[in-house]
Amino acid sequence: MRVCDLIAGKSPFISLEFFPPKEKEAWPGFFEVVEKLKELGPLFASVTYGAGGGTQDNTLEIASRIKRDYGIEPITHLTSVGASGEKLDDFLKSLRDADIQNVLALRGDPPKGQDDFDFASQEFRHATDVIEFITERYPEMCVGGAAYPEPHPESPSIQSDLDMVKLKVDKGAQFLVTQLFFDNRLYFDYVDRLKSMGADVPVIPGVLPIMSLRSAKFILGLCGAAIPGKFLSSLERAHEDGGDEAVYALGMEYAIRQAQELIDGGAPGVHLYTLNRAEACLEIGRNLKI
Ligand code: FAD
Repeated sequence: MRVCDLIAGKSPFISLEFFPPKEKEAWPGFFEVVEKLKELGPLFASVTYGAGGGTQDNTLEIASRIKRDYGIEPITHLTSVGASGEKLDDFLKSLRDADIQNVLALRGDPPKGQDDFDFASQEFRHATDVIEFITERYPEMCVGGAAYPEPHPESPSIQSDLDMVKLKVDKGAQFLVTQLFFDNRLYFDYVDRLKSMGADVPVIPGVLPIMSLRSAKFILGLCGAAIPGKFLSSLERAHEDGGDEAVYALGMEYAIRQAQELIDGGAPGVHLYTLNRAEACLEIGRNLKI
């Protein structure tokens, strides 16, 4: 089923992001997490593609099993970096064969250690090209794109970032999922600006529950989002006073409040970055008034 139609029919909602575990031995434990998170009645679950390296082939299989065995509608992510049109087409055909009609179309990051990577050498230079490719060949697909309330680090300005996201919508993106962020004002302002530019599609905010100081710093280093100074210092204080447990409790409190404010302020739902763990998302879901 097309997630675009599901979103139109049910708001607000919770959705989930998973990444395919690299090693097959980890799959049973992974599916236990999916089973536990079914309790939240997620509208859909997205499965990353190649993020963290080397698991692209597993994206489709994990997504198919999430649909078949757990009855959760999947979105597969798809990145174009390093890929030919033929490769993308093969993946999209496999999606069609697996009866999956949802794809989050992405460019992807440069290969590890190649910060000066030249995207102009690629068959697909931008996510907008991937979106166009999919919508032309697979018009039945519900295609989404990534959005950045704190602009993408490569964007020369906030306006140019917004213009490119608007272009994603013009090329056929029917929904957007945001990079994680911690300040809801950024999200609401971003959605207002996109709407005023005529890009009026559901913008689903990505929420990351902070579970430990170390992992928070690692993830933020990867994606370029910022933790508000006050929140960061309270996390550090909590760590000094009460260790990991205190950080976890504060992270949960923040994520629940953030998600509730997003929903109360009119977000279509909240997309929880699960990091393939159940407890934190269960706690958020159980405490949200939806
Ligand atoms: P783009 O939209 O191409 O943006 C990259 C830069 O190019 C931006 O500055 C943008 O403004 C600019 N730009 C876009 N289109 C044009 C254009 N037509 N002309 C000129 N400039 C343009 N990575 C993975 O490897 N696997 C995943 O599964 C994955 N999932 C993600 C899910 C979400 C919700 C998000 C927010 C990110 C995800 N990422 C994933 C990370 C993503 O690949 C990186 O952020 C990457 O650097 C940019 O990808 P993009 O699709 O946003 O690229």
